[in-house]
Amino acid sequence: MTIETIKDRIAKAAQAANRAEDSVKLIAVSKVQPNERVEAVLEAGHRCFGENRVQEAAGKWPDFRERFAGVDLHLIGPLQTNKARQAMELAQSIHTLDRPKLAKTLARLAQEIGQCPELFIQVNTGEEEQKAGVMPAQADDFIAECRALDLPVAGLMCIPPVEEEPALHFALLAKIAARNDLSGLSMGMSGDFERAIALGATHVRVGSAIFGERVPG
Ligand SMILES: *Cc1c(COP(=O)(O)O)cnc(C)c1O
Repeated sequence: MTIETIKDRIAKAAQAANRAEDSVKLIAVSKVQPNERVEAVLEAGHRCFGENRVQEAAGKWPDFRERFAGVDLHLIGPLQTNKARQAMELAQSIHTLDRPKLAKTLARLAQEIGQCPELFIQVNTGEEEQKAGVMPAQADDFIAECRALDLPVAGLMCIPPVEEEPALHFALLAKIAARNDLSGLSMGMSGDFERAIALGATHVRVGSAIFGERVPG
């Protein structure tokens, strides 16, 4: 699908939910996509992208930034503390703050660098063992801990379990965000972004629907 088609679908979903079109940000997830495909979307005027891995992002985005002004880069994959500095220097937004150790590292580096990307706290809404994120029952405490460290927490993020109805997870994430006065909700991917928008998503992360199937590297 073209990026324009996805934008139309986002606009329609926002309208159906009585929300303003511009209350939903489209993050085009360009991980593992050939550069030509990413370039085509940049040429079409889109500037907001998502990457999973710091190393991959560092390999392609500095060059793209030189050629296209105003790139807004979001890191949406698990972040190791030893990559935190590089992540902060590369990205405007990090969606995967998921543990106290990373929070402390980001806070220390933010002091040192003098700035910090906007942050989303990842919540493991499905309580899956192999998945990153704080457990729902620990979310309130972790949000408070991040705020006490002066971290700029913009909202929450989740990746629902593949086998389950995502709407339940989106609703849970929205509920945790609301009771913590957080307005950002990073949820919804290619298969379910319209349902996420119906439940309040402010950031949808759409990859394969825009770029086509990912080409294994
Ligand atoms: C890859 C990825 C996406 C995009 O997935 P699609 O199904 O291709 O839209 C969204 N969020 C995260 C965290 C991802 O890793």
